[in-house]
Amino acid sequence: MRCPKCNADNKDDVKFCKKCGTPLVVKQTWKPTWKWHLKVLGIIYVVIIALFFLINWLLRDYIRELPTDITPWLKQDRDKAGGERATVGGTVPDIHQRVK
Ligand SMILES: [Zn+2]
Repeated sequence: MRCPKCNADNKDDVKFCKKCGTPLVVKQTWKPTWKWHLKVLGIIYVVIIALFFLINWLLRDYIRELPTDITPWLKQDRDKAGGERATVGGTVPDIHQRVK
């Protein structure tokens, strides 16, 4: 093979150029691009978010509403929502009412 630096002809099995000493072992290192990062991270996020909703849906019968007397910080939200279930981040429709 030819040396990429000095263009000297070398045997195929040598690791360094006999003339200039340049390493002739071609490193095939794979360098991920930003597009690759965005794609992979996007897929990971989509999978995590989809799993979150899927698990929430699968466990819907086991999600219970906490009594108001032990969650007084949720009382205000619950009253405002008019019967809808209150969560820390806001309100969500009561899933048990939809099932019935
Ligand atoms: Zn060389």
